[in-house]
Formats: sequence, structure tokens, C-alpha cells
Amino acid sequence: MTATFLERLQSREILIADGATGTRYQNMGLALGVPPEEWVFDEPSKVVGLHRAFIDAGSDIIITDTFGGTRLRLRDSKYADRAPELNRRAVELAREAADGHPVFIAGSMGPTGALCEPLGDLTYTAAVETFAEQAAALTEGGVALLLLETFFALDEARAAIEGIKQVSTLPLVVSFSYDQGTRTMMGHTPTQVAKALAPLGLAAIGANCGKTLGDMEKIIAEIAALKTGLPIWAKPNAGLPRMVDDVATYDVTPAAMAEYAIRYVQAGAQIVGGCCGSTAEHVAAIARSVKRET
Ligand SMILES: [Zn+2]
Repeated sequence: MTATFLERLQSREILIADGATGTRYQNMGLALGVPPEEWVFDEPSKVVGLHRAFIDAGSDIIITDTFGGTRLRLRDSKYADRAPELNRRAVELAREAADGHPVFIAGSMGPTGALCEPLGDLTYTAAVETFAEQAAALTEGGVALLLLETFFALDEARAAIEGIKQVSTLPLVVSFSYDQGTRTMMGHTPTQVAKALAPLGLAAIGANCGKTLGDMEKIIAEIAALKTGLPIWAKPNAGLPRMVDDVATYDVTPAAMAEYAIRYVQAGAQIVGGCCGSTAEHVAAIARSVKRET
């Protein structure tokens, strides 16, 4: 019997997550403006191919192509009315890529793209419902854990957690994006987020995307200092994008990312990977250096 995700976390082993999904697809031909989740139905072999590239690079965790897979987020997609099916199929593709490799499949769940009342028109109840529907489909598909990623608003995260807990007992990781440096778009600090969410029954907490590798180190240190007892997740961007002929280009090298990955672990992170702009080469460099140094 192989160890579960929670057992691997409890063993204090450092786990390697994967790299970018959306920006990699853009390099693989995803047109601007097309939701990456549409590739679950339209380009399944490319979805499997990217998962495989990250597995070959040393990822212990691969993340489904379902970041924008809530019914609410998919509302402008041609697959708007097939949200649960799309989520289940995305898990199938990840399982096909894993093909016997001992990797954990994380079901990605991102924000709905709408702001909660009173700032926007998203009601708390509608948010709870859409995340519950997605979590149920991902759980049914057979993921090992659920991952709320790139969140920036506490109210939406609370609604998502409530919806998830209604339908799933899987381990839940919550990761916010501090894209203003060390604050989210809504102005939340890592301390505010961790204090608010750590008591809600999470398996790990952390940060992804964001601005710079140095900011991520500060965020990890800030969360670690709170001693919540939760493992910390760190999945930074390969820097901020530069547009070159309509293609987002990221300048942070695999070597630079690997160097920072070690610093994140030293600061208290237990799961490291890369977000936007991170290729299989970035993940391979992170895996090599982290497994060597720790
Ligand atoms: Zn990102």
C-alpha cells in the first residue's frame, strides 16, 4: 500500500508540485482568450503530454486542467453546460498521464472571476454551490487532494471551502496569490489569510503565482512564523511576463528558480513547484536541487 498524500506530508518529506498550465498551453498553441480548460475536450493528448512532461521532470504532484472549471467561471465557454463532465474528464487525463507513476493528482479550483457581494454580483450562496459542484466532480473523478489556487479574496475562499466540505472529505490545500508583492489584490496579508483559514480543516496552506521570487520567500517566512502547524505550499511564477509578439515571455531561469526553491524550504515550505512561465525544465531543476539539499 503506497503512502497517502497526508502520510507523505506527515513524514516531512519535501514534495515537488508541477509547473505552469495556462502559459505552457499558450506555447503549445492555445489561442489567446480561449479558456485552457477547453483543451480537456479539444486537445486531450496535449493535456496528457504536459502532465507527462512534469512527471518526467520529477513532480510528485500534478494538477488537473480545471483551474477555471467552476460552472461560473466557464459561463462564457462553449462548454459552460458541461462543467461536471469536464472536471471528471480532466482527472481521467491526469490519471492516464500518471499511468502507474506514484504521483498525486490535485484537483485545481480557481476563483470564479466574479467578486463577492457587495463589491460584485457574486452571492455567497452561488459561490458555495459552484465550488461544491466542481469539488464533487473532481472527487468522483478520483483526485488525491483538492487545491484552491490563486485565490485573492477571503470571502470567496471561505465560500469555496464551505462548498468543498459539503461534498468531499479529501485533503484540501489553499493557496493565495499575493500579486501586489506581499498582499493580495484585495489587500490581504499572508498573516490575515492564514489566521482566517488555518482553522477550517486544511491539509496545507500557501501561495502561488505572485510577483517575484523574493516576495514569495517573504510570504513563506511570514506564514511559517505563525506556526499554524500546516505544511506550506510555494509555487511562484517564473517572474512577471513580458509580451513578445503577443506571447507572454518569462525570464526567470530554471537555475534561479531552483536556488529560490531551496530558500523556500529553508524558510518552511514543504511543497514547492512553479506557476506561470514555469516549464518542465524549471520543475526538473527545482526537483534536483531540493532533493539534493534536503
Ligand atoms: Zn500563475
